Amino acid sequence: MKAELIAVGTEILTGQIVNTNAQYLSEKMAEIGIDVYYQTAVGDNEERLLSVIDMASKRSDLVILCGGLGPTEDDLTKQTLAKYLGRNLVFDEKANQKLDQFFASRPKYSRTPNNERQAQMVEDSTPIQNITGLAVGGILTVDGVTYVVLPGPPSELKPMVQEGLLPLLSTSGEQLYSRVLRFFGIGESQLVTVLADMIEEQTDPTLAPYAKVGEVTLRLSTKAKNQQAADLKLDALEAQILATPGLDNTPLKDHLYGYGEGNSLAQVTVDLLKASGKSVTAAESLTAGLFQSTIADFQGASEIFEGGFVTYSLAQKASILGIAEADLKVHGVVSEFTARAMAETTREKVGADLAISLTGVAGPDELEGQPVGTVFIGLASEAGVMVKKVHIGGRSRSDIRYIAVLHALNMVRQALLA
Ligand code: ATP
Ligand code: MG
Repeated sequence: MKAELIAVGTEILTGQIVNTNAQYLSEKMAEIGIDVYYQTAVGDNEERLLSVIDMASKRSDLVILCGGLGPTEDDLTKQTLAKYLGRNLVFDEKANQKLDQFFASRPKYSRTPNNERQAQMVEDSTPIQNITGLAVGGILTVDGVTYVVLPGPPSELKPMVQEGLLPLLSTSGEQLYSRVLRFFGIGESQLVTVLADMIEEQTDPTLAPYAKVGEVTLRLSTKAKNQQAADLKLDALEAQILATPGLDNTPLKDHLYGYGEGNSLAQVTVDLLKASGKSVTAAESLTAGLFQSTIADFQGASEIFEGGFVTYSLAQKASILGIAEADLKVHGVVSEFTARAMAETTREKVGADLAISLTGVAGPDELEGQPVGTVFIGLASEAGVMVKKVHIGGRSRSDIRYIAVLHALNMVRQALLA
């Protein structure tokens, strides 16, 4: 089935709102195995909407319109579709009662023909009730093309899609199941290089890499009757991927840190800290608190984090952390020595299980002869202090700071797993 989405609203064309409904609808269609071939946005204009509907109905089997179901003059989606199909608008009884109740509880307002349209749908449609709003949606098939009408506000559209539309559309019994693998410490190009054949040949499940700042994800997707059937296929492909060696010959398994769309290195690290009952602290130069702020973003952070330091200047590294100024000057603030001393003294002062230190060059200029992107990260624990030097090349100041925090989180994660 070929589907097409039409978002109606001048606000989308002028850039005042982002067409997130298209993204949501595409995702939901993919989940039930319906291919979306086109996404269009059109203004609140009858003539242009008519021409878009006309084009869509010639090339698609399913046309989903969203937006423009409200009571104002510019809301013309239903009327225009009715006109295109040569049908009337008729009242939906349930939606009409809801409208009656709405106005009965607000005696100051009176029902106008504009309001009434919210309870109407194109003749012969099956209504899709609006749980969180007044405008009823609908679905009808004419000459082999199925038309769906949905309201614009995502708070209304989403429940209608989930509760009303998806059960009506998903008839094949097959759904799309996806699994997202998350990698750190390997670039997208390297991942794509070592998996090139698999990505090329794989048709079921499919395999799609996606690069984010500092990390890469791989999405494995398959259509199946149920989760169990999907897992069989996804497990097999995942095992094959994880056993594949990277360019440095370590298997990709060593770079996998977690699963899931909404997951993150920070989430995984915080969860591990909580599960192991260990606490973390940090002294931050380069990142000026970003590591600590990232940890504190999570609910219940106080279980694992009591506090730490921001020591940006050499003077503060000396006065707050008590590192001898002369030593800092001899070794430089961006150095293994400084990262080690920062982590060590911070762990002692705070009394945490693990202490991170971050010092480096965010740019745009080099520092102490060290190029932009040079970062030293210290990790002090019961087992002693280790320092990792990383080079984050070709990045903006904010990306360097962000990626440095990811490295630090990964060090904590690995220490907890060791
Ligand atoms: P209303 O009754 O609120 O007028 P409506 O069905 O007529 O609803 P629109 O008037 O097109 O919908 O849009 C109302 C609001 O819904 C917009 O201001 C915007 O916040 C949101 N919205 C509309 N279309 C989209 C879209 N494609 N993606 C995301 N949000 C949207
Ligand atoms: Mg409107």
